[in-house]
Amino acid sequence: MKTPEEIKEQIITTERFKELTGIDPIQDDLERANCKSAGIFNHICCGWCSKHNKPAWWCLCSVNKYNKKIKENNESANKPQNERP
Ligand SMILES: [Zn+2]
Repeated sequence: MKTPEEIKEQIITTERFKELTGIDPIQDDLERANCKSAGIFNHICCGWCSKHNKPAWWCLCSVNKYNKKIKENNESANKPQNERP
């Protein structure tokens, strides 16, 4: 089980957002940072990049990860068509 401190750590608050990005969160920034659907379709740029400690929509990690997955899917889907008898 996680301690309240650990859970709190994962939630991006206004203070934490400002501390890590240097700016105040605007509009739905906090909602997006804490989005539970982060990383899936329509939420590709939601969430928080733990690697760079900034909003996922500020860095391309999540986008790159998503594009790579799409590319892999396309490649495996295209393969049979390229193989002509
Ligand atoms: Zn990143």
